[in-house]
Amino acid sequence: MTVVTRFAPSPTGTLHVGNLRTALHNWLFARRHGGTFLLRIDDTDQARSEERFVESIRADLAWMGLIPDAEERQSARFDRYEARFAQLVADGRVYPAYETAQELELKRKVLLGRGLPPVYDRAALALTDAGRATLEAEGVRPHWRFRLDHDEAIAWEDMVRGPQRFEARLLSDPVVRRADGSWLYLLPSVIDDIDMGVTHVVRGEDHVSNTASQIQMFTALGGAVPGFAHEALLTGNEGKLSKRLGSLGIDHFRDVGIEPQALIALLARLGTSDPVEPFADPTPLIASFDFGRFGRAPARFDEAELAQLNARIVHQLDHAAVADRLPAGIDVAGWDAIRPNLSTVAEAADWWAVVQGPIAPPPVAEEDGDFLARARVVAAELDWSTDPWRTLTDALKVATGRKGKALFLPLRRALTGRDHGPDMAALLPLIGKDRALERLATG
Ligand code: GLU
Repeated sequence: MTVVTRFAPSPTGTLHVGNLRTALHNWLFARRHGGTFLLRIDDTDQARSEERFVESIRADLAWMGLIPDAEERQSARFDRYEARFAQLVADGRVYPAYETAQELELKRKVLLGRGLPPVYDRAALALTDAGRATLEAEGVRPHWRFRLDHDEAIAWEDMVRGPQRFEARLLSDPVVRRADGSWLYLLPSVIDDIDMGVTHVVRGEDHVSNTASQIQMFTALGGAVPGFAHEALLTGNEGKLSKRLGSLGIDHFRDVGIEPQALIALLARLGTSDPVEPFADPTPLIASFDFGRFGRAPARFDEAELAQLNARIVHQLDHAAVADRLPAGIDVAGWDAIRPNLSTVAEAADWWAVVQGPIAPPPVAEEDGDFLARARVVAAELDWSTDPWRTLTDALKVATGRKGKALFLPLRRALTGRDHGPDMAALLPLIGKDRALERLATG
C-alpha cells in the first residue's frame, strides 16, 4: 500500500500553529512511509473562502519546507459531489429533511429535558410522498441528512487514541447539504478521500465524532475506510486552547526570528514520548515519526521552548544557509565568529555593528585606565596575522600579572562596548588592528 495523506485547510484565514502541526504530521508520516502528501483546499464555503488565504497557506507550507506532491481544490469538484450525492439519494442513504433550525432546537431541548441524548428523531424519514409534496408546495426547501446504519456499531483503531467505538443509534444523522444547496464539509471530504486514494486521515481530535459518521459514508460510497490519527490539541502556557495560540502563525514566527527548522523540530515531537531536539535537518524526525508515540493529553506549546530550540538551530546553520539575510560584509569567518552568540539570525546585524563600529563603550573603571593604556601599546606592536587575541592577552598577562576576568573583561568592554558576546578570539580579527587601537585609546 502506498501511503497517501492530505492536509485539508479551509481558506477562511491564515494557518495557526495547530494547523501547521497537523500539516507537518501529515507530511512526516507520508515521508516516513515513502508516500504522497496532498494539499487539499477545502473551499466549498465560497462566501468565506478567500484567494489570499489560499496563497498564504501555500506560502506558509513552502516556508516550512512542506511541499505538497499535489494540490486539490474542492471548488473544482462540485460536479463530482453532485453525482455521488445523487447516488446516495437514489440508494436511500441521503434523505431530505424540512425542519427549521428552531424546530430542531426545540426537539433537542425536549429530549435533554427528559434526560435523553439529543439525537435527531428522523421525523423527515417518516414523511409520506404527499407530506413532502405539501411542504415543497409551500416553498420549504429541504436540507439533506445522511442516514446512519443503526445496526452497525462504528469502530476503528485510531493511530493515536487506540480503539474507538460509537453506537450509531446515539448519533444524529448528519446534515451533509444545506437547503441552499451548499455543502457541509463531511461528505465532500469523504468523496475526495476515496477519489484521491487517501490512506490515512490525520487531523485534530475535534473531528473524532465526524469520523464516526464518515466511516459509514466511506462504506456507503463503496470506498475503503482509511486509517485515522486524531491528535490531541495544543494548549498554550495557561493550559488551555488560548486565543493567542489560535492567532500564532508563520508571520509571527518569522517576525521574531524563528527558523522553520526550529518550528519543525518542536512540532514534530511535542506531545510525544521522544525528546525535543534541535534537528536542523528533518531526516531523523522523519525516521522516528510514529503516531504510537503521541499521548492523548493536550500538548503544551511554549514559545520560550521554541526560542531556545531556535538558538540551538541557528548555531548549526552555515553561512550559505543564511547569507542572503546577513548584512553585507559578514563572510564565513564573520558568521562563524558571531553565530554561537545568536538567538536569531537577525541579531547578527547587531554584532556586525559592534565589529564595524562606532561603539559606545561604558566609562573605564578607574583601576583599568593604566591597564588599557598598556594594552594599546602592546596591541600596536603585536603581530596581527595569527590569533591576535591570544597574543595580546598572553603578553598582557606577563606584563601586568592580571588574569581571568580582570584581564579579559576590561578588554572586551573597550573593544566591543559590551560585557558579553562572541568569543573574542574570533571577534578581534574581524574588528581588526586599526579599530582595535582606536577603541583601546578611547577606552
Ligand atoms: N477542512 C477541514 C478542517 O479544516 C478538514 C478536516 C479534515 O482533515 O478532514 O477542519
